[in-house]
Amino acid sequence: MTLVSALRAVVGDDGLLVRDEELYAYEADGLTLHRGLPAAVVLPRDKTDVQRLVRVCRAHGVPFVPRGAGTGLSGGATAIEGGVVIELQRMDRIVRVDAQDRLAVVQPGVVNADLSKAVAPLGLFYAPDPSSQQACTIGGNVAENSGGPHTLKYGTTTDHVLGLELVLPDGTLVRMGSDVGAATGYDLVGAVVGSEGTLGIVTEATVRLTPIPESVATMLGIFDGVVDACRAVGAVIGGGLVPAALEIIDQRTINAVEDSRYAAGLPRDAGAILIVEVDGAAGSVAAQVERIRGFAEAAGAREFRVAGDDDERARFWRARKGAFGAMGRLAPDLYVHDAVVPRKKLPEILAAVCEIGDRHRLKLSNVFHAGDGNLHPNISFDRRDADERVRVIAAGEEILRTCVEAGGVITGEHGVGTEKRDYMRLLFSEDDLGAMIRLRHAFDPERVCNPGKIFPATRFCVESDPKARGYDEVPLS
Ligand SMILES: Cc1cc2nc3c(=O)[nH]c(=O)nc-3n(C[C@H](O)[C@H](O)[C@H](O)COP(=O)(O)OP(=O)(O)OC[C@H]3O[C@@H](n4cnc5c(N)ncnc54)[C@H](O)[C@@H]3O)c2cc1C
Repeated sequence: MTLVSALRAVVGDDGLLVRDEELYAYEADGLTLHRGLPAAVVLPRDKTDVQRLVRVCRAHGVPFVPRGAGTGLSGGATAIEGGVVIELQRMDRIVRVDAQDRLAVVQPGVVNADLSKAVAPLGLFYAPDPSSQQACTIGGNVAENSGGPHTLKYGTTTDHVLGLELVLPDGTLVRMGSDVGAATGYDLVGAVVGSEGTLGIVTEATVRLTPIPESVATMLGIFDGVVDACRAVGAVIGGGLVPAALEIIDQRTINAVEDSRYAAGLPRDAGAILIVEVDGAAGSVAAQVERIRGFAEAAGAREFRVAGDDDERARFWRARKGAFGAMGRLAPDLYVHDAVVPRKKLPEILAAVCEIGDRHRLKLSNVFHAGDGNLHPNISFDRRDADERVRVIAAGEEILRTCVEAGGVITGEHGVGTEKRDYMRLLFSEDDLGAMIRLRHAFDPERVCNPGKIFPATRFCVESDPKARGYDEVPLS
C-alpha cells in the first residue's frame, strides 16, 4: 500500500489533504522566512487515529510533524524535511471539568481562549494567555511552553499542566503526571512541555484552572520614550509589587494598532505605553494602583489612565493582543523576535535593539512582556525583496547576540524551532546539547518526530539531510 492510501485508510478522504493548493497552506507557520512543503496533511479524530498514523509513517520511513493552529513563530510546525503533517485541530473536545479540584482534561485541539470561556461560569479561567489565544491550541501551547501577558504573575504553560497523554514516536500511548500534579518518578511532564513536538504527540492534557480574581485594575502609563517606560517597569518590580501584567508597546506599534480594527484611542504621539494590570482581593487593588501611579510618574509618565470599567479594560487588552495582527498593515511579512534579558538591563538593550534596526534600515517596532524581560522586536518586511531579507536576518542575529551578551537567552516563549536552532551554541556547549539529544533519543531513537527542530543543523548532518535517510525514495502516492 502506498503512503497516501495507508493514511487514507485511517482518516478517510475528508481527513486527508494531498493536493498542492491544499498543502501550500501548511508550507509555513507564523515564521514565513522558513518553508517546507509536506507530502500530506492528515486530520485525526481521536488518539487511536494518531497512533495508527504514526505507525503508518514509520512503516513508510517518513517523518511526521504535529501541528495545532500553525500560529507558532519559530517554524516548529513546518515540515522542513517534508513528510506528513498531523494536524490536531479536529481533536477539540473539553473532556472533563472538575471545578472542585480546579482542573480540566482537554484534547490538544481545544483553542486556548475557548477553555477560559467554557469555565468562566464556574468562576475559573485558564491562566496562560498567549496574545494568539483566539486561535492557538492547547497542544501547541504545551509543546512551546507558551507564555503571555499574564505570565509575570501566573507563570507559563508548564506551571499549569498536571498530566499528559502522549503518543510516542513508535505509536505507543503513555500517560504521565497525575490529577493532583505531584510527580512520582521522573518529571516526564516537565520534559514534554516545551519539547516543541519532538518527543511525541500530545493527545490529551490535564490542566490547572485558576479562580477568577475578585478585583482587577488595568492602567496605562503614557511615556515620551520607550526607555522611560522600561525604567518604570524596573521601579514597579523593585518596589516589591507583582502585577499580573507589565507590557510595553512602542510608538510604531501604537500607530499600527490605531489604524486597525483593534484601535483603542491610544495617543499616537506617545513614545511608548506601559500597560499594567493588578489583581487580587477587592481591598488590595486600589492601594497598588496608587503605588504604580507614583512609580510611573517618577519615571516620567506624562499621563496615567486607569480603565473605568470592564469594557475599557477589554479595549486596552484588545489593542495589546491585536498588536501583531495590526502589524500586517506595515508590510506583507513580520519577523517576531523573542529573547529574554535581565529586567534591569531593559533600557540599554531596548536602545541597542532600536539602533540595530535603524542601522540595517529596517522597520522595527517593539511590543513586549516587559515585566518578564521578554522582548519582541518585530521587523516588518517584504520577503520578496532579497536585499531586505538579508538585512532582516543580519539584524536578527545581532539582536540575539546582544541579548545573550547581556546575560539573556534566545527565546522566552516562542521556542527554538528551525528559527534559532543554529543559535543554540550561543548558550550551550556540545556536552550540554549532547545531554538534550540523548533525552530526545530516549523518546525518538529514529528521529522521525518533527526532525530538524531545536538542534543545530550542522550537528547531525544525517538528521538534517532527508535524502541521507532515504525519504526521497519513498513513493508518496
Ligand atoms: C499574533 C500572535 C501572537 C502570539 N503571541 C504569543 C504570546 O503572547 N505568547 C506565546 O508564548 N506565544 C505567542 N505566539 C506564538 C504561538 O501562538 C504559540 O507558540 C502557540 O502556543 C502555538 O500554538 P499552535 O496551536 O498554533 O501550535 P503550532 O504553531 O501548530 O505548533 C507549535 C509547535 O507545537 C507542536 N505541536 C502542536 N500541537 C502538538 C501536539 N498536540 N503534540 C505535540 N506537539 C504539538 C508543533 O509541532 C510545533 O512545534 C503568538 C503568535 C502569533 C501569530
